Amino acid sequence: MRREQFLVSSSNRVGQSDAIQPSRHGLEANAEASAANASWTATTRPDTGDGTTVWNWLNGAELKAQPLPPPAEKQSPPTPVAPAAAKHAPSPQPLNPSPIDSATSDLKSKSGATNVLYKAPHSAKKFGAQIKSESGRIAHATVMANLYAEMRQRFPNMPANPTHTVIVTASKRGAATLDGPTPFLSIKAKEFTAADWTAIDAWETSHGRRWGVERRGTQVADNFRHELAHNLSTPEIIREWDAVISQHNLEWFRQNVSEYAARDLKRYEALAETFSLCTRAEYQRNALPKVVEDFIFKRMLGET
Ligand SMILES: [Zn+2]
Repeated sequence: MRREQFLVSSSNRVGQSDAIQPSRHGLEANAEASAANASWTATTRPDTGDGTTVWNWLNGAELKAQPLPPPAEKQSPPTPVAPAAAKHAPSPQPLNPSPIDSATSDLKSKSGATNVLYKAPHSAKKFGAQIKSESGRIAHATVMANLYAEMRQRFPNMPANPTHTVIVTASKRGAATLDGPTPFLSIKAKEFTAADWTAIDAWETSHGRRWGVERRGTQVADNFRHELAHNLSTPEIIREWDAVISQHNLEWFRQNVSEYAARDLKRYEALAETFSLCTRAEYQRNALPKVVEDFIFKRMLGET
């Protein structure tokens, strides 16, 4: 089955979040986005044949960094053990996991992801630079794990495996793919600078509405929910979302959600921004029309 693969690029100047260009619609985009788009299309297309994807390959590449132990040597026979003793012999004790291994394991567990990478896939610079220190990687992995856990706590019916590969990098904007086939996600590692926020504040004051859903003080979490929405955006979700869009045109999203929601290919960013807005812990239900809230809470997050 053909799976669509989308590129998330970062074309906005203020950099609130990402913008999405579908790889197969030949949309005119800037050269950087086009080049990255072509790269991603080439590298993330599932192989024909045995179904191996680039993500499997990446997994293999990651494993190379941690070589498997050598095969057991036949010439060293095991020490004979009396049957009674063998029956009660304890299983081999695993070594105490390192802090980074513990953080990785926790992030996998809480996100439901198959892979955790600390370096963006080759040539995918927009997914963020490697975090230099191990303590920094552990800190960001822990933040991401807690963000997944917090969403699951509030929305227990949320899909179990929205993200296939979590990329723990010093991303400036966050990035995510829609519907994979094996969706990946990275998020902002820190908030905007005071100067960035001053510019956004000025824009919002002069326009009387939000530039983006992200807010000062919760920006990383807000960005996480935006990117998570992209991971949850399967083709079926997007098709159904189109029906919602048809009832509330993009200008409506621009006025009621954010400027960013009405940018670029619209329906993807409109959905991600609306998702991030509605899933804020302080969000007041019924602030947006029922058809919109039902789509976010019921269709995407499984509320009954
Ligand atoms: Zn986005």
